[in-house]
Amino acid sequence: MDKNTDFIFQKRVERTIENLEKNNIEAFFVQDEKELIDKIMDLVPENATVSVGGSMTLFETGVIEHLRSGRYNFLDRYKEGLSMDDIKEIYRKSFFADAYFTSSNAITEEGEIYNVDGNGNRVAAMIYGPDKVIIVAGINKIVKDLDEAIERNRAMSAPANAKRLNKNTPCAKIGYCMDCTSPERICRNYVLIKSQGKKGRMYVIFVNKHFGY
Ligand code: SF4
Repeated sequence: MDKNTDFIFQKRVERTIENLEKNNIEAFFVQDEKELIDKIMDLVPENATVSVGGSMTLFETGVIEHLRSGRYNFLDRYKEGLSMDDIKEIYRKSFFADAYFTSSNAITEEGEIYNVDGNGNRVAAMIYGPDKVIIVAGINKIVKDLDEAIERNRAMSAPANAKRLNKNTPCAKIGYCMDCTSPERICRNYVLIKSQGKKGRMYVIFVNKHFGY
């Protein structure tokens, strides 16, 4: 990355971390995937029960592979051959996990976390249940404020996910949200996490790269 744009991203990360901490959300900045995995091992002990929300970032950063390493009791929703009932059971068991991993659609410089879900299993577990929630995000997920977070979802996260999932929605054809009424709509639950009551429950780990949508 050019050193001047790197400087701008560094400052944005610093502001965001400062404001997340004010909201009782601990945040870290790591440079690459190796530092990310080291940080995860600091935060989550061996044999912990862990689960994940749907996320491209977790695949791209190697977190899913790490969770499959045998170090943890991983409730693996991506395991081959699972039935819909098996997946439903994993979603429900995830509320009892020691640590829940996910990414985010946008994280504001004001220290807020914005996510839009179809099922709602991800946002439900982020809000309540798991003892720890660990959000892994590339620096591309940082936005200025809630308005930019909403716009980011409409212009990038949701259309890209609809395309990835081969949904029959307008955004998957034109590349922008039309606030559709499609039966295949993937945006149904819009959640802004402003703060945590319990310090030490929610963490954000920024990785100094671009990941996911
Ligand atoms: S509301 Fe519909 S059109 Fe908008 S991003 Fe979601 S699925 Fe696409």
